[in-house]
Amino acid sequence: MIKDYLKNTWEGLYTVLVGMKITWKHLFVPSVTLQYPEERAKLPERARNRLFVNINDCIGCMQCATACPVNCIDIETVKGAPVDMPGETSKGKKKALWVTKFEIDIAKCCFCQLCVFPCPTECIQMTDVYEYSEWDRDNLIYNYANLTPQEVDIKQLNLEKFQAEKEAKKIEAAKAKAEAAAKKAEEDKAKSEEKPSDDEKKEEK
Ligand code: SF4
Ligand code: SF4
Repeated sequence: MIKDYLKNTWEGLYTVLVGMKITWKHLFVPSVTLQYPEERAKLPERARNRLFVNINDCIGCMQCATACPVNCIDIETVKGAPVDMPGETSKGKKKALWVTKFEIDIAKCCFCQLCVFPCPTECIQMTDVYEYSEWDRDNLIYNYANLTPQEVDIKQLNLEKFQAEKEAKKIEAAKAKAEAAAKKAEEDKAKSEEKPSDDEKKEEK
Protein backbone atom coordinates (compact mmCIF):
# COMPACT_ATOMS: atom_id res chain seq x y z
CA MET A 1 0.00 0.00 0.00
CA ILE A 2 2.69 2.47 1.06
CA LYS A 3 4.72 1.27 -1.93
CA ASP A 4 1.92 2.27 -4.36
CA TYR A 5 1.57 5.63 -2.65
CA LEU A 6 5.29 6.38 -3.02
CA LYS A 7 5.28 5.15 -6.65
CA ASN A 8 2.31 7.38 -7.58
CA THR A 9 3.89 10.36 -5.84
CA TRP A 10 7.12 9.86 -7.74
CA GLU A 11 5.29 9.47 -11.09
CA GLY A 12 3.35 12.67 -10.38
CA LEU A 13 6.54 14.57 -9.59
CA TYR A 14 8.34 13.08 -12.57
CA THR A 15 5.65 14.04 -15.11
CA VAL A 16 5.56 17.60 -13.70
CA LEU A 17 9.34 17.85 -14.04
CA VAL A 18 9.20 16.52 -17.62
CA GLY A 19 6.37 18.94 -18.46
CA MET A 20 8.30 21.87 -17.00
CA LYS A 21 11.56 20.95 -18.77
CA ILE A 22 11.04 23.39 -21.70
CA THR A 23 9.77 26.09 -19.34
CA TRP A 24 12.82 25.75 -17.08
CA LYS A 25 15.12 25.76 -20.12
CA HIS A 26 13.71 29.12 -21.29
CA LEU A 27 14.35 30.71 -17.92
CA PHE A 28 18.04 30.71 -18.80
CA VAL A 29 17.99 31.84 -22.48
CA PRO A 30 17.57 35.48 -23.69
CA SER A 31 13.97 36.59 -24.20
CA VAL A 32 12.69 36.86 -27.82
CA THR A 33 9.32 38.43 -27.02
CA LEU A 34 8.83 41.96 -28.35
CA GLN A 35 6.94 44.38 -26.16
CA TYR A 36 4.72 45.59 -29.03
CA PRO A 37 3.81 48.41 -29.65
CA GLU A 38 6.71 49.92 -27.69
CA GLU A 39 9.06 47.60 -29.56
CA ARG A 40 8.73 46.62 -33.22
CA ALA A 41 10.22 43.84 -35.30
CA LYS A 42 12.73 44.93 -37.93
CA LEU A 43 11.12 44.20 -41.30
CA PRO A 44 12.99 42.54 -44.16
CA GLU A 45 14.31 45.02 -46.71
CA ARG A 46 11.83 43.97 -49.39
CA ALA A 47 8.80 43.64 -47.12
CA ARG A 48 5.52 44.57 -48.87
CA ASN A 49 3.18 46.75 -46.89
CA ARG A 50 1.08 49.82 -47.49
CA LEU A 51 1.39 51.53 -50.86
CA PHE A 52 2.29 55.15 -51.35
CA VAL A 53 1.83 57.28 -54.45
CA ASN A 54 3.78 60.47 -55.09
CA ILE A 55 0.99 62.04 -57.10
CA ASN A 56 3.19 64.93 -58.28
CA ASP A 57 5.22 62.44 -60.31
CA CYS A 58 2.25 60.46 -61.63
CA ILE A 59 1.63 60.88 -65.37
CA GLY A 60 -1.71 59.05 -65.32
CA CYS A 61 -0.54 56.30 -67.67
CA MET A 62 -2.71 53.68 -65.90
CA GLN A 63 -0.02 51.00 -66.12
CA CYS A 64 -0.30 50.27 -62.40
CA ALA A 65 -4.09 49.92 -62.60
CA THR A 66 -3.81 47.65 -65.63
CA ALA A 67 -1.30 45.40 -63.86
CA CYS A 68 -3.33 45.10 -60.65
CA PRO A 69 -4.88 41.60 -60.50
CA VAL A 70 -7.68 42.62 -58.12
CA ASN A 71 -8.62 45.98 -59.70
CA CYS A 72 -8.10 47.91 -56.51
CA ILE A 73 -6.56 50.95 -58.25
CA ASP A 74 -9.02 53.45 -59.70
CA ILE A 75 -7.59 56.27 -61.81
CA GLU A 76 -9.29 59.01 -63.83
CA THR A 77 -7.52 61.61 -65.92
CA VAL A 78 -8.27 64.71 -67.96
CA LYS A 79 -6.08 65.69 -70.89
CA GLY A 80 -4.27 68.95 -70.30
CA ALA A 81 -5.34 71.87 -72.53
CA PRO A 82 -2.50 74.01 -74.00
CA VAL A 83 -3.49 76.91 -71.73
CA ASP A 84 -3.31 74.71 -68.65
CA MET A 85 -0.76 71.90 -68.90
CA PRO A 86 0.13 69.74 -65.86
CA GLY A 87 3.85 70.52 -65.99
CA GLU A 88 6.64 68.01 -65.39
CA THR A 89 7.62 65.26 -63.00
CA SER A 90 10.53 65.72 -60.60
CA LYS A 91 12.76 64.02 -63.19
CA GLY A 92 11.70 66.40 -65.97
CA LYS A 93 9.24 64.13 -67.81
CA LYS A 94 6.45 66.20 -69.41
CA LYS A 95 2.97 65.39 -68.18
CA ALA A 96 0.07 65.41 -70.64
CA LEU A 97 -2.72 64.39 -68.28
CA TRP A 98 -4.19 65.77 -65.09
CA VAL A 99 -4.79 62.94 -62.61
CA THR A 100 -8.24 63.80 -61.30
CA LYS A 101 -8.79 60.58 -59.38
CA PHE A 102 -6.29 58.13 -57.90
CA GLU A 103 -7.74 55.75 -55.36
CA ILE A 104 -6.33 52.53 -53.96
CA ASP A 105 -8.65 50.25 -52.03
CA ILE A 106 -6.00 48.85 -49.71
CA ALA A 107 -8.50 46.44 -48.16
CA LYS A 108 -8.60 44.59 -51.48
CA CYS A 109 -4.85 44.81 -52.09
CA CYS A 110 -3.01 41.46 -51.97
CA PHE A 111 0.43 43.12 -51.75
CA CYS A 112 1.66 41.44 -54.91
CA GLN A 113 3.63 44.59 -55.88
CA LEU A 114 2.71 44.11 -59.56
CA CYS A 115 1.66 47.76 -59.74
CA VAL A 116 5.08 48.98 -58.67
CA PHE A 117 7.25 47.47 -61.42
CA PRO A 118 5.60 48.93 -64.55
CA CYS A 119 5.41 52.51 -63.24
CA PRO A 120 7.56 54.61 -65.62
CA THR A 121 8.16 57.35 -63.05
CA GLU A 122 8.59 55.08 -59.99
CA CYS A 123 6.00 57.10 -58.13
CA ILE A 124 4.05 54.15 -56.71
CA GLN A 125 5.98 52.32 -54.02
CA MET A 126 5.57 49.84 -51.19
CA THR A 127 6.32 51.35 -47.79
CA ASP A 128 7.17 49.76 -44.43
CA VAL A 129 3.89 50.94 -42.88
CA TYR A 130 1.84 47.96 -41.73
CA GLU A 131 -0.27 49.42 -38.93
CA TYR A 132 -3.31 50.96 -40.54
CA SER A 133 -6.32 49.13 -39.14
CA GLU A 134 -9.61 51.00 -39.36
CA TRP A 135 -13.04 50.61 -37.82
CA ASP A 136 -14.68 51.88 -40.99
CA ARG A 137 -13.79 49.94 -44.13
CA ASP A 138 -14.25 53.05 -46.30
CA ASN A 139 -11.23 54.58 -44.58
CA LEU A 140 -9.12 51.94 -46.28
CA ILE A 141 -9.77 53.56 -49.66
CA TYR A 142 -6.82 55.90 -50.02
CA ASN A 143 -7.17 58.93 -52.21
CA TYR A 144 -3.91 60.30 -53.62
CA ALA A 145 -5.27 62.82 -56.14
CA ASN A 146 -4.68 66.38 -54.99
CA LEU A 147 -7.13 68.36 -57.12
CA THR A 148 -10.31 69.75 -55.61
CA PRO A 149 -13.65 69.02 -57.39
CA GLN A 150 -13.69 72.66 -58.55
CA GLU A 151 -10.22 72.32 -60.04
CA VAL A 152 -11.26 69.12 -61.81
CA ASP A 153 -14.25 70.97 -63.31
CA ILE A 154 -11.96 73.75 -64.51
CA LYS A 155 -9.56 71.26 -66.15
CA GLN A 156 -12.53 69.60 -67.84
CA LEU A 157 -13.93 72.94 -69.05
CA ASN A 158 -10.51 74.04 -70.35
CA LEU A 159 -10.24 70.81 -72.32
CA GLU A 160 -13.77 71.07 -73.71
CA LYS A 161 -13.12 74.68 -74.74
CA PHE A 162 -9.86 73.72 -76.42
CA GLN A 163 -11.51 70.81 -78.25
CA ALA A 164 -14.41 73.01 -79.37
CA GLU A 165 -11.98 75.64 -80.70
CA LYS A 166 -9.97 72.96 -82.47
CA GLU A 167 -13.10 71.52 -84.02
CA ALA A 168 -14.27 74.99 -85.13
CA LYS A 169 -10.87 75.64 -86.72
CA LYS A 170 -11.04 72.29 -88.50
CA ILE A 171 -14.52 73.07 -89.86
CA GLU A 172 -13.36 76.54 -90.89
CA ALA A 173 -10.34 75.09 -92.71
CA ALA A 174 -12.50 72.47 -94.46
CA LYS A 175 -14.96 75.19 -95.49
CA ALA A 176 -12.18 77.40 -96.84
CA LYS A 177 -10.74 74.44 -98.76
CA ALA A 178 -14.13 73.60 -100.27
CA GLU A 179 -14.68 77.26 -101.26
CA ALA A 180 -11.24 77.43 -102.86
CA ALA A 181 -11.91 74.21 -104.78
CA ALA A 182 -15.31 75.51 -105.97
CA LYS A 183 -13.73 78.82 -107.04
CA LYS A 184 -10.99 77.04 -108.95
CA ALA A 185 -13.55 74.80 -110.67
CA GLU A 186 -15.52 77.88 -111.72
CA GLU A 187 -12.39 79.60 -113.05
CA ASP A 188 -11.40 76.48 -114.99
CA LYS A 189 -14.88 76.25 -116.45
CA ALA A 190 -14.83 79.93 -117.47
CA LYS A 191 -11.42 79.50 -119.11
CA SER A 192 -12.54 76.44 -121.05
CA GLU A 193 -15.61 78.34 -122.31
CA GLU A 194 -13.46 81.30 -123.45
CA LYS A 195 -11.00 79.08 -125.32
CA PRO A 196 -12.34 78.14 -128.90
CA SER A 197 -12.35 74.47 -129.68
CA ASP A 198 -10.32 72.99 -132.62
CA ASP A 199 -13.52 72.53 -134.71
CA GLU A 200 -14.47 76.17 -134.15
CA LYS A 201 -10.97 77.25 -135.22
CA LYS A 202 -11.29 75.18 -138.45
CA GLU A 203 -14.70 76.71 -139.21
CA GLU A 204 -13.31 80.18 -138.73
CA LYS A 205 -10.60 79.41 -141.31
S1 SF4 B 1 0.13 45.43 -54.68
FE1 SF4 B 1 -0.94 44.13 -56.16
S2 SF4 B 1 -3.05 44.06 -55.43
FE2 SF4 B 1 -2.05 45.77 -54.36
S3 SF4 B 1 -2.53 47.55 -55.64
FE3 SF4 B 1 -0.56 46.76 -56.33
S4 SF4 B 1 -1.07 45.38 -58.03
FE4 SF4 B 1 -2.96 45.73 -56.88
S1 SF4 C 1 2.01 53.59 -63.39
FE1 SF4 C 1 2.89 55.24 -62.15
S2 SF4 C 1 2.72 57.05 -63.48
FE2 SF4 C 1 1.37 55.50 -64.34
S3 SF4 C 1 -0.64 55.94 -63.41
FE3 SF4 C 1 0.36 54.40 -62.10
S4 SF4 C 1 1.40 55.59 -60.53
FE4 SF4 C 1 0.89 57.00 -62.15
